[in-house]
Amino acid sequence: MYDIRLWSVRHARLFEGFYRLFERSYVAMAPLIRRIGVERVEKPVAAVERIVKGTLFDCRMCGRCVLSSTGMSCPMNCPKQMRNGPCGGVRANGHCEVRPQMRCVWVQAYEGSRRMSGGHAILDVQKPVDRSIEGSSSWIRVMQEKAPASTRTPVAETHGT
Ligand code: SF4
Repeated sequence: MYDIRLWSVRHARLFEGFYRLFERSYVAMAPLIRRIGVERVEKPVAAVERIVKGTLFDCRMCGRCVLSSTGMSCPMNCPKQMRNGPCGGVRANGHCEVRPQMRCVWVQAYEGSRRMSGGHAILDVQKPVDRSIEGSSSWIRVMQEKAPASTRTPVAETHGT
């Protein structure tokens, strides 16, 4: 999977465009999801998300995806799980100090962000990892946050969104 992860960062621009379209379509599905019930769709959607993003990005299902801000390099693959840039231990060859065989995910993130039109988002400060939403679908979370208020499922009925 490591090679696929590197490939995905090399094609960050492509994934950026694809994700924009994909996000628009699932946000548009908010009224339908509300009708079916978020609690019913959360698990199957999370299962699909785990397979797709696990294959492409070595996703760890942190529950709040930041790939669009990190050059399509998942920061949860950092052994220290740094969400806001590299630690001080990046090797001179750009590899990780903990796993010397692996490129630093933040070196990757920088390279991926240079390929993206919205790459400046790498400067955004990310919230710390919220362990209470680990394993949940970030697609559902984004849908809940971006859909018009009238089409969202009320917060109390969702898992931590
Ligand atoms: S940031 Fe979180 S949701 Fe996004 S790919 Fe990484 S672990 Fe998965």
